[in-house]
Amino acid sequence: MNILQQKDLNHIWHPCSQMKDYEDFPPIIIDRGKGAYLYDTEGKSYLDAVSSWWVNLFGHANERINKALCDQAQKLEHVIFADFSHEPAIDLAREIVRITPANLNKVFFADNGSSAVEAALKMSFHYHQQTGHTGKTRFAAVTDAYHGETLGALAVGDLDLYSQIYRPLLMNTFKAAGPDCYRCPYGKKRETCDAECFEPLENIVAEHADEICGVIIEPLVQCAAGMKIYPPAYLKKVRQLCTEHNIHFIADEIAVGFGRTGKMFACEHAAVSPDIMCLSKGITAGYLPLSLVVTTDEIYSAFYADYRELKAFLHSHSYTGNALACAVARESLRIFREENVLAGNEQKSRMISEKVQELFEGHPVAGEYRQLGMIGALELVADRKTKEGFDWQRRVGYNIYRIALTKGVLLRPLGNVIYFMPPYVVQKEDIEKMVIVALESVNQYFNL
Ligand SMILES: *Cc1c(COP(=O)(O)O)cnc(C)c1O
Repeated sequence: MNILQQKDLNHIWHPCSQMKDYEDFPPIIIDRGKGAYLYDTEGKSYLDAVSSWWVNLFGHANERINKALCDQAQKLEHVIFADFSHEPAIDLAREIVRITPANLNKVFFADNGSSAVEAALKMSFHYHQQTGHTGKTRFAAVTDAYHGETLGALAVGDLDLYSQIYRPLLMNTFKAAGPDCYRCPYGKKRETCDAECFEPLENIVAEHADEICGVIIEPLVQCAAGMKIYPPAYLKKVRQLCTEHNIHFIADEIAVGFGRTGKMFACEHAAVSPDIMCLSKGITAGYLPLSLVVTTDEIYSAFYADYRELKAFLHSHSYTGNALACAVARESLRIFREENVLAGNEQKSRMISEKVQELFEGHPVAGEYRQLGMIGALELVADRKTKEGFDWQRRVGYNIYRIALTKGVLLRPLGNVIYFMPPYVVQKEDIEKMVIVALESVNQYFNL
């Protein structure tokens, strides 16, 4: 590769970034990846401890997935998905129905997480319109939720950083105080509580049931909010409440699906079956944009009618059902099956938590360490007693991120929360490196 000049980099507007930061911190140009590592154009390696935004499962340049992708590209890259279908999509839908909770039987295709959320919201609203509940025009969600950044998804999300300025453009959503286990206002512990914090959502839904189409929630882990983990009991209550009031339980499994939490889908921890499940991110093991909205026969049936009744769900995207993405997703699910991935992850998950406990035990800025499956999160606090965090303007996470990069680990803290979410191919020595670099970077930043 030719040596790039600063001026060559000036045309790209990067996501999730203040571009002015790039003045003294230009983008790292990645040349190639292998397994859990990325390599820049100068050959420096970075351990990808965030699975490249939570998408990569089986490592970069995975041989099996590369082959599935190349084979598919030789046959068919893409075809219009209305009135046409193809084997990778057919196989994928069959397998998804097999592995998702029992009542989910129909698979609708989209092409990224936010678009799956949009489709799910439209589908839920539209269903109620066609089944005689025309007063149901709103959604309920919880505080600190994240469902993506298109306008519909922002409206059901609750992270001001992403949504505040757009508020005049957003539909009006019911927002209930959600779980907050580290700072539980009920004084409970997530291991033993009965999800007492469900009360606010219960009250809102009970009071406005006639106006609510669906409750959308991230099952068990609010990832973007800082890997906030809450107990399965909460989800069981969501299921029960929704059933009682003819409201859809929309599970946004975009970040937690495909084994992240230790089970294939996070809903399994609570043994609940949502009415609509959104899947993306890990679905193609980090290779290509694809998302699915998986739903019940009951919802599907409400759209099934003679054409002239105008009941069809017309939502579509140009790249819907992309054959390359479907072939890759199909191969990824074969890897899960054939290589017994979830069982192997149990041991890795334990290694991560043991290493963090060992290195951060009693550390002066270590607040809570929480973990579920292959998601571990260490919340840094200014005061361990009061659990007070650091002011956002200090940019603690961002500064630690930059230090960790110099040490060859891609950690990308969310505010004050350092998290570990590596590809499932990480080895023991990678896990040790990831946690050691986290400790060194924290110590360097705080001069400890
Ligand atoms: C990432 C994410 C989304 C949005 O997916 P995109 O592909 O980034 O649009 C939605 N919900 C959750 C829980 C996510 O983590």
